[in-house]
Amino acid sequence: MRLYMLYLGTMQPGEIPVPGYLIQTDEGFNILVDTGWPRSFVDTPVNPPDLTIQIRPEDTVTARLKAIGVSPADIDYLICTHLDEDHSGNHDLFSSAEFIIQKEHYELARSGHPRFEANRTSWDHPALQYRLIEGDYELVPGVTLLETSGHVPGHQSLLLRLPETGVVLLAADAVMHHSMADAATRQIYVTDMDDETGIRRSTRKIADIAASENAAFVVYGHDTEQWASLRLSPAFYE
Ligand SMILES: [Zn+2]
Repeated sequence: MRLYMLYLGTMQPGEIPVPGYLIQTDEGFNILVDTGWPRSFVDTPVNPPDLTIQIRPEDTVTARLKAIGVSPADIDYLICTHLDEDHSGNHDLFSSAEFIIQKEHYELARSGHPRFEANRTSWDHPALQYRLIEGDYELVPGVTLLETSGHVPGHQSLLLRLPETGVVLLAADAVMHHSMADAATRQIYVTDMDDETGIRRSTRKIADIAASENAAFVVYGHDTEQWASLRLSPAFYE
């Protein structure tokens, strides 16, 4: 099994990375995790308050996949950590994939919650097929989804069992930065939607699993310092 870290652009100031991930299993499955900002942002970014989005043509999810020989039609599963704008901008390109999302999150977004409307034409697309799951869920051997509500209801993270590296957790926005890894003291960020109890519960869940599984490392959702130290695609972890 291989894990590719896909660099899908940056928010300034602070060189804040927007990541996606590709997992290739020994059985031949291509599993994509998140799709970044909408591809139209290469030319015309719609910047959030106080941030400037920078996406070069080579940073789009399709360009990152192409650089490692993968086309959208090759993706078997697309895991949605959640439907915030920086994670769900290009779902419509992956109509041959099966999308895996927490039922709670999908239903909240489908109900019209304004937070998830920006990319709605991308993720609420008639050609897309969603598998709605509830709680922790082993998708294929070595790839387990972890329910980590907090940042948003029905957020999910991943636990991967790589043959050489060992266990790697992709926290996504359950824990956006290494400075937020301690459940007791972590900052509650302005974009964290659930009540504080849920946010701390999921932060503790990530930390407890990392400890009990003796994880090699946890990848945080938007961690500038950590991202600079990671092996980015086309290189990979295995
Ligand atoms: Zn995010």
